Amino acid sequence: MNELSQIAKNNSVSGNAENLAMQMIGVKRRYQQGEETLDILNGVDFKLYRGETVALIAPSGAGKSTLLHLAGLLERADEGDIIIDGTSCGELSDERRTEVRGDSIGFVYQFHHLLPEFTAAENVVIPQLINGLDKSEAEQRAVELLGYLKLGHRITHRPSELSGGEQQRVAIARAVANAPSVLLADEPTGNLDPETASYVFEALEALVKQSGLSAMVATHNHELARSMDRCVTLRDGLLIEI
Ligand code: ADP
Repeated sequence: MNELSQIAKNNSVSGNAENLAMQMIGVKRRYQQGEETLDILNGVDFKLYRGETVALIAPSGAGKSTLLHLAGLLERADEGDIIIDGTSCGELSDERRTEVRGDSIGFVYQFHHLLPEFTAAENVVIPQLINGLDKSEAEQRAVELLGYLKLGHRITHRPSELSGGEQQRVAIARAVANAPSVLLADEPTGNLDPETASYVFEALEALVKQSGLSAMVATHNHELARSMDRCVTLRDGLLIEI
């Protein structure tokens, strides 16, 4: 797909500070459960460079989803800052955070969350229309992305007519439809059998590498995680390399 390099806004791979897609600085998040305060993130520092893939492996309850929600500006940190594409987002209004999220972040969840009444192609077109793209351009991009993910023969199918692996590949296409800088995935293959999981994971990695976007993927699957550029974990609320 010749348009693939345009999926990400900047496809250079490098370790320079200017090439940071996302940075977390001293991020803290705590939850109140009754009388108890749960300190889930205790000052996370993390740099995600453009073009790199990072696996986040940690046990259930360690705070992976919390970290991804904060990185994706779906929640606010109690302390610290998240910088996306050079924009410090900690103090931004909700409206600006929504704009940054729409421009720069793509999400893939464990469950596909596709719109059931729409086709695979429409599920990829709709977020682009919401972001202001012209309908014919959005349709062309959807067809290209789905073709790249080997779903060219499924574009008119509704989610219920697709297998679990196909649904997740549509969800991946939807997540990158608006040319994000950062793809955040929370157990994207956690609901699939091992063979399908490998296939979907490989498709996700190939797309990320081809397009030069950056990805952080929470997974329990160590084998899949090892294929990524770096692996990190959460220990005592801190992010560390493993
Ligand atoms: P993981 O994704 O690693 O399984 P989570 O980020 O979902 O972990 O959750 C980390 C901890 O924070 C868990 O103990 C969970 O119960 C708690 N938690 C998550 N969200 C909330 C919330 N909204 N209110 C209270 N506790 C929460």
